[in-house]
Amino acid sequence: MRRLMGVLLERLAASVPDATVVLAGRDVFEVDFLTARPDALAQVVAECRAACANAVHIEKISCLPKLVISGVIGRPEDDATGLIERAEAALAEAELAAAIPDVVGTGETADSVVAELDGALDRGEMVLHYQPKVHIRRQAIDCIEALVRWEHPERGLVPPGDFIPATERAMRMERLTLWTIAQAIVDQRALRAQGHDLRIFINMSGHLLADADFVRLACAAIVAAPDARLGFEVTETSVIRDPDAAIAHLRDFDRIGVRISIDDYGAGLSSLAYLKQLPACELKIDKLFVTQLTSSNRDPLIVRSTIDLAHALDMEVVAEGVETQAALALLSVMGCDMAQGYFISPPLAPAPLAAFLAAEQHRQATQDVRGSFTRRAAGWKRG
Ligand code: C2E
Ligand code: MG
Ligand code: MG
Repeated sequence: MRRLMGVLLERLAASVPDATVVLAGRDVFEVDFLTARPDALAQVVAECRAACANAVHIEKISCLPKLVISGVIGRPEDDATGLIERAEAALAEAELAAAIPDVVGTGETADSVVAELDGALDRGEMVLHYQPKVHIRRQAIDCIEALVRWEHPERGLVPPGDFIPATERAMRMERLTLWTIAQAIVDQRALRAQGHDLRIFINMSGHLLADADFVRLACAAIVAAPDARLGFEVTETSVIRDPDAAIAHLRDFDRIGVRISIDDYGAGLSSLAYLKQLPACELKIDKLFVTQLTSSNRDPLIVRSTIDLAHALDMEVVAEGVETQAALALLSVMGCDMAQGYFISPPLAPAPLAAFLAAEQHRQATQDVRGSFTRRAAGWKRG
């Protein structure tokens, strides 16, 4: 992805030499230019399209980029933040307009995946694995993230990436998510009985956030379990889809004690205008920026400024994808609150998770991250 974006950046910069072109996100370019000509925007858009019309070849892969372009013309009253917010909102609209045919379409593949998934739920083949989020300064684990897996009788343990995107495209995540909430509550009680009282965060698909019927059912399930301590991980992209409904529903969840976490920050659509309205207590920096933290020049700057932004908005920051001691040490120095990743623990089934917690294995990974530190042999397998 990085190499692809690098090639496109070069092409765009060459095709619009009077503009400043920067990579403004995982897959977003910002093209800034000053002009007095009213037709300049249309011309720059045409030049950008032409620059990306031919496939990019990287090693054996050829990729034809699909562009979504939006443009805003600065007004005299715009400050930098206002202009960026307007540009982000325009891009979000353009992206949604481009995505809607895919989102509403329920192709055969999606239908068959959903039918299989229904059967899997009926047969009890779905399981939840849990990955700890470690508080770096306190070296404590207060919460874990639930990640669904399918124990397929023939294919073995199927990761969520193989079935969730199709289920989301078919807008059929409701049953799986209600099952996840119920199963997380059961697993939480079992862990509590073993002395581990942890809040469980559940991933919430975008289309469910705007679905009033789903929200009613989810709230009813949670309220019926007064001992449940849950959180939902949502992406900003899913809020931007239908902001009024999503924000109202997130407030409903917040009112019944469900904590809200912004997942995959930096990887999708992002809007400061919406971010500051969300009742979120936590922001998770996407692993894209964390896995290369110590080998990239740009990523530490992005991570550092995201930590400052989240703290300014009174949110705690979780870095996901922490794979090395060096990354953990740098995050600690940058003031990141929590870390999640293979360096601490992969997602684990409930029984190995309880053993991990009982052995306090996370302390081995987090102690003295700022100084010289040799990681002791860890008792888990990389997942
Ligand atoms: P996510 O919520 O961003 O979850 C993080 C993913 O990163 C997980 O993949 C996790 O196993 C992986 N990961 C953890 N530590 C590291 C690390 O150090 N390095 C790297 N490279 N990766 C790491 P997983 O479990 O395959 O889940 C993928 C995605 O599937 C999740 O991304 C989430 O968007 C979705 N998902 C999983 N379970 C559910 C669910 O119950 N409901 C919904 N709606 N989505 C789910
Ligand atoms: Mg997540
Ligand atoms: Mg994530």
